[in-house]
Amino acid sequence: MARRKKVYEGKAKILYEGPEPGTFVQYFKDDATAFNAQKKDIIDGKGVLNNRLSEYFMTGLAQIGVPTHFLKRLNMREQLIRQVEIIPLEVIVRNYAAGTMSERLGLEEGTQLPRPIVEFCLKDDNLGDPLVSEEHIIAFGWAAQQDLDDMIALALRVNDFMSGCMFGVGIRLVDFKIEIGRVWEGDFQRLIIADEISPDSCRLWDMETGEKLDKDVFRRDLGDLADAYTEVARRLGVLPSNVTHATKPTLIN
Ligand code: 5GP
Repeated sequence: MARRKKVYEGKAKILYEGPEPGTFVQYFKDDATAFNAQKKDIIDGKGVLNNRLSEYFMTGLAQIGVPTHFLKRLNMREQLIRQVEIIPLEVIVRNYAAGTMSERLGLEEGTQLPRPIVEFCLKDDNLGDPLVSEEHIIAFGWAAQQDLDDMIALALRVNDFMSGCMFGVGIRLVDFKIEIGRVWEGDFQRLIIADEISPDSCRLWDMETGEKLDKDVFRRDLGDLADAYTEVARRLGVLPSNVTHATKPTLIN
């Protein structure tokens, strides 16, 4: 059988050509990177957990009418997705100050923000994904004004959905990053959620203890990353409740 064609390899995922035109197979690796890949490790089972968690969130979003690239999960590490033209911006939504916002504005981590705040960063590893303003985005043509309005509306809907999901299982959604892509339907285009939604790209804190259950565990050497992601999956019912942190993830159908 011919080897399938790799289209793109990123830090945490690989994209292969899909079975139909307009589709890709997205493969979730176990690689963890932080600080623009200056810190790297392999975390056993991370790809399996993120494949399943991203499926969970994207399926839920579709059910409330938020369009996403997700078509179906194929196996433990792969999902079938729609091919999109990725908008070269990371869209970050913040509910509480943390990370670079805390550093930039001198806000204590965990300070509740007056309302959800949407930020844009240019996707450019060489520049370290710099924060950019809406003025920059329009002036440099990375997205049009209508795209920006649509991206903000999509990001805020994702925020409401994800905040609710997490609140229901005792987790605070501090912030998250999404990527958005353009799809063409005849002469019409629309924007849909792409890439992944997983603890790799969110800040998730236990509401009682403040324990971190996201990639900061790896970034800041706070413990075992797979344990943290397993806990998120277990609380959401994506893993059976009898899975202990020491075991490898066992998926339920
Ligand atoms: P910060 O700007 O504070 O570093 O990140 C804000 C939020 O966006 C965090 O939830 C963080 O995980 C996510 N984020 C920002 N940049 C990236 C990135 O390049 N990759 C991933 N996976 N998440 C990111």
